[in-house]
Amino acid sequence: MAPPALKESPLPDTPISTVLLVIALHAEAAPLVADLRLTQDSQAVFPEGVPWVKYSGTYEGLNVHIVTPGKDGIHGCDPVGTVPASLLTFNSIQVLKPDLIINCGTAGGFQAKGAAIADVYLISETAFHDRRNSIPGYREYGVGALEATPVPKLISALQLKTGVLTTGDSLDHVPEDVVIMKANDATVKDMEGAAIAYVAHLLSVPLIMLKGVTDIVDSPAATDEEFLANLSLTAHAIQRTVSKALQFISGKKLSDLQ
Ligand code: SAH
Repeated sequence: MAPPALKESPLPDTPISTVLLVIALHAEAAPLVADLRLTQDSQAVFPEGVPWVKYSGTYEGLNVHIVTPGKDGIHGCDPVGTVPASLLTFNSIQVLKPDLIINCGTAGGFQAKGAAIADVYLISETAFHDRRNSIPGYREYGVGALEATPVPKLISALQLKTGVLTTGDSLDHVPEDVVIMKANDATVKDMEGAAIAYVAHLLSVPLIMLKGVTDIVDSPAATDEEFLANLSLTAHAIQRTVSKALQFISGKKLSDLQ
């Protein structure tokens, strides 16, 4: 069994005016940047030299910022994984002071838990599956289970599926991961979510996570091929759900989501 997730406290009556969207891949961000009509700004909000990118604008009366880690300075690819996501989230919270964070992106789905390609899940809880440590007290720290900010009104308004997200720094998985992913009761698997949840919890910022399924983890298909084949379809499904979520959030207080 997974260790119990830390419970989040009730949301305050704060009006939601600034929303920060943290997105790992450019291909996931692009449909949203276009739909929300955001513009890339050259305002120096990030430390000098980092490749991070920010798109900003207003949508339905909300100040919306999308941040992505850009392109890796050494390897040229999108800097996926927990380290860039944590740093980007930490710095963006400091500078942009969001009332609410939305982390959205692609994920693997477990068909044994009912997941199918292009489904979009609202995450109920996050945990890690690749931080193994058998020293007493450290097993639970490694798994790092965190309950998501409770947003039942949003879930029912958008008729969203919900499930637990398990995070690790690899696109594939080894047999030890499978045992822990199962213990985490995971429906979806990604490479950033639990790290972003850690930072949001550390700095006490409410976080909503929306994850779209590009590939099926518990199937024999090659994950990388399935991921690339479904990336565009799923990125658009994520965009539609996030746009609807922002429309619902517009004009509301944090407590109205609960
Ligand atoms: N070649 C890809 C690399 C993406 S890595 C590219 O187009 O850049 C996979 C990304 O999608 C990560 O950000 C991760 O969070 C998510 N993801 C999708 N399916 C996943 C899976 N089965 N396991 C882990 N992460 C997955």
